[in-house]
Amino acid sequence: MFELVAYEVDGRVATISHNRPESRNAESRQLLDEMDAAFRQAARDPAIGAIILGGKGDHFSAGHDIKEAQVSRSNFTVEERWEYERLRYFDYALNILDCPKPTIAAVQGACVAGAFMVANMCDIMLASDDAYFSDPVTRTMGAAAVEVLIHPWVLGQRKAREMLFTGERVSAEEGHRLGMVNRVVPRAELHATAQAMAAKIADGPEFVLQLVKRSLNRTADIQGLRTALQAHFDTHQLSHVSEAFRKVRDSGLASAIRTGKAS
Ligand code: ZN
Repeated sequence: MFELVAYEVDGRVATISHNRPESRNAESRQLLDEMDAAFRQAARDPAIGAIILGGKGDHFSAGHDIKEAQVSRSNFTVEERWEYERLRYFDYALNILDCPKPTIAAVQGACVAGAFMVANMCDIMLASDDAYFSDPVTRTMGAAAVEVLIHPWVLGQRKAREMLFTGERVSAEEGHRLGMVNRVVPRAELHATAQAMAAKIADGPEFVLQLVKRSLNRTADIQGLRTALQAHFDTHQLSHVSEAFRKVRDSGLASAIRTGKAS
């Protein structure tokens, strides 16, 4: 049914996983389309009470598939890029935020850029002790962060600025200290911990949980979350026509991957 995501059901819990471990779970067009479809499937299935978002293999995900972008999107017009990124990056991410059922991100290894953004759309985040989080694209690609600027909301303003300005990683432990990560567990225990928490949540009163989530999302929206994210999307699009981005694109986005790996 799905090729690049895994959809697994255990009791009342659906686990949706990035499933391209040979490519560090890079989020291609097809993978994102399938992930969005998988979330909608879990959301409308009355047998499912909670959803885990994960990644098969050593890494949660290295983020958007830059190699695919180089081949198919480097000559996009403003209009084409706007449409592609609005649907697949912005709307799909906010669909996870707005998913009526409780969601848990289970993160191991790399959780980078586009992956940082989708993992942080979940209600709860569990991380293995070797997980790390980063968004280096301001430095490596000449893009104004990723499309959904969730960073200050989950890390606080100071750390978000440091992370974005330096391109450096945030460890699972530091993410926990800052409140982005609920729990840090050994890698071998990550899935079982997520499954146990999701099963406990799914055992609760479904409709009332939905109401609580609705109120929590509205609390964030009253604080300006959605408007700020929408405003950043527009600013991010402007960065795609900057000199810095053009230089990276012309020298090959693959070189940005190498620069990102070196930093
Ligand atoms: Zn973009």
